[in-house]
Amino acid sequence: MSLDDIKMRIAKACKAADRPEDAVSLIAVSKVQPNARVDSVLQEGHRTFGENRVQEAAGKWPEFRETFQDIDLHLIGPLQTNKARQAFELFQSIHSVDRPKLAKTIARLAQEEGHCPHLFIQVNTGAEEQKAGIAPAETDAFVTECRSMDLPIEGLMCIPPVDEEPSLHFALLAKIAERNGLTGLSMGMSSDFESAIALGATHVRVGSAIFGARAYG
Ligand SMILES: *Cc1c(COP(=O)(O)O)cnc(C)c1O
Repeated sequence: MSLDDIKMRIAKACKAADRPEDAVSLIAVSKVQPNARVDSVLQEGHRTFGENRVQEAAGKWPEFRETFQDIDLHLIGPLQTNKARQAFELFQSIHSVDRPKLAKTIARLAQEEGHCPHLFIQVNTGAEEQKAGIAPAETDAFVTECRSMDLPIEGLMCIPPVDEEPSLHFALLAKIAERNGLTGLSMGMSSDFESAIALGATHVRVGSAIFGARAYG
């Protein structure tokens, strides 16, 4: 698959869902990929990328930014509070806000820095023990809490359980977002971004379908 193929499939899925093509942002997930592959996607003109670890992002993106303008970087993995300041410097969006302690840290940093990345609340739609994210039943209260701290919550994010039909999780996330008046939906990966778009995704996070299989991670 190439970047162009994925863009074409996104356009097709938008059309099928009667949504405008620019309703969906493609986040190219570059975690663990060799720099040469990332470089070639940058050469093709793509600027929106996702990383799941602060440390890894810090090791490669400052250098890419010296060469390529307007890079829009999204943190899609868990964030420890002691890495939040570094995340502020590196990322334009954070998709993994999932607990009050982290929300408070982000609110304090936003005060100090005078700006804040776009924020998505991660919802653990499958209620999986090992997975990050706030429980679906606690999400409404958490959205309210974040808003009371003036955090710019753009939407919700989920990673469905691997062995379940993702559409059910996408539909649940869309429902929770709607009742909270949130328009952003970060959902859909290489294997299921078309069904995510059918259910309202505004941000799809596609890694291996663009870059090829990851060696690990
Ligand atoms: C790795 C990752 C992706 C991309 O996965 P692919 O299956 O390679 O498209 C998307 N979202 C998150 C949170 C990830 O960690």
